Amino acid sequence: MPLQHRCCICKQSMPHESDPSHPLNPCALVLVSNINLDRQMQKEQEFPCHFDCFRRLVADDSLMYIVEPDYSTIGDVEDEQSGRGS
Ligand SMILES: [Zn+2]
Repeated sequence: MPLQHRCCICKQSMPHESDPSHPLNPCALVLVSNINLDRQMQKEQEFPCHFDCFRRLVADDSLMYIVEPDYSTIGDVEDEQSGRGS
């Protein structure tokens, strides 16, 4: 994986390392194809982006649950699904 990505929204370079401009950076959008089909038939592609660029695109902070401090990490979700949580 290259050390420098370009944000798919603003086209500026973005570091692969943690970015002091936002605690969620660096981010990537994950495009999921064919959401009407079974998971096994879907395709996915990641697009690097700045969190704030995506936030401006969405333009509705009430939808941005991911900024909540207690929003689950993927590890938390996997632990819950496997019964390791709680
Ligand atoms: Zn950007």
